[in-house]
Amino acid sequence: MSNDDPKITGMKLWHLSLPVNARRDHGIGSVEHAVEIVVVRLTTEDGIVGFGEASPWVVFTGSVEATYAALDRYIRPMVIGQNLADHAAIMERAQYAVAHCTEAKAALDTALFDLRGRLTGRPVWALLGGQYRDRIPLSCSIADPYFDKDLALMARLRADGVRIIKLKTGFKDHAFDMMRLEHLRADFPEFDIRVDYNQGLHHDVAMSCVRDVASFAPTFIEQPVKAHLHDLMARLRDSIDVPLLADESIFGPEDLRRLDHIADGVSIKIMKAGGLTRAQTVARMAAAKGLSAYGGDMFEAGLAHLAGTHMIAATPEITLGCEFYQASYFLREDILATPFPVEDGKVVVPEGPGLGIDVNEDLLDKYAVRASE
Ligand SMILES: [Mg+2]
Repeated sequence: MSNDDPKITGMKLWHLSLPVNARRDHGIGSVEHAVEIVVVRLTTEDGIVGFGEASPWVVFTGSVEATYAALDRYIRPMVIGQNLADHAAIMERAQYAVAHCTEAKAALDTALFDLRGRLTGRPVWALLGGQYRDRIPLSCSIADPYFDKDLALMARLRADGVRIIKLKTGFKDHAFDMMRLEHLRADFPEFDIRVDYNQGLHHDVAMSCVRDVASFAPTFIEQPVKAHLHDLMARLRDSIDVPLLADESIFGPEDLRRLDHIADGVSIKIMKAGGLTRAQTVARMAAAKGLSAYGGDMFEAGLAHLAGTHMIAATPEITLGCEFYQASYFLREDILATPFPVEDGKVVVPEGPGLGIDVNEDLLDKYAVRASE
């Protein structure tokens, strides 16, 4: 405990609506027109600031309204006046101050790490255990209901050096999924193809659909059925040679006891886990069971991508790359002062203090639906 650490004296929130350039269809719902997030800025008594992002999705983790209220009404009293040295205690109190709202807690944890990094001149990955990797292979999701638009995106990805895609399936019909898989396998042979149903298959047809998709030998098939259908996940896993990943079925460390029965690996998200260290815990618990881990995300802006990037940089167990594509390929305009760093199909881990890239506060004001401090 360091009594030299400053007190946190300010907390500002922005609810943002960020326009997007396409429609994304997933098994549990669609996103078009805009992505809604909450940004939190913590300020210390000596004027250092740290930022964090909460990226909820109403059909997956919760609503932006609940996220905003969690931070504004229930978490704010746990933070203001506290010493930065009490990071772990602040997070523990926030954990129980409001149920669920994992994205709000991820934003708080991110802002506390960003503050600590800026105060000490060290990157967030250094605070999370040190750097294991300095590049993370990027996966982009193919999820447009109009496949021609995704083919144009594929050409752009190819030119940019991206070599991993995740085909979103289960939002239209099985024939559409099979047609796209056939097309992508034939015309983009250099790509590592993964498949994600986002719970989109009805349990009546799940077995036959998953077997058909497995015949294309994707790197993995993610969450084919509803999150709570654990026995069916286990049967699907046993029926195919392709690894099955759990996403919606596994949020935080508390859910890990079921993972070794239902899947071969897990999609790790700071928005599901409720923070950076909790996400690391999920990855380590999975690895201890011999299961693989993938760096998933929600519909995020670059600020949340940065938090995930630092977390994955410091977490050897996350071996399957990341999907931090929205800042570069989905948002019309991101909120960072300089572009989220992607080079030759890989996310470049920042080396600067804190998250390593500043937020452009003018853009927060530009896209704010509401704000409070
Ligand atoms: Mg998923």
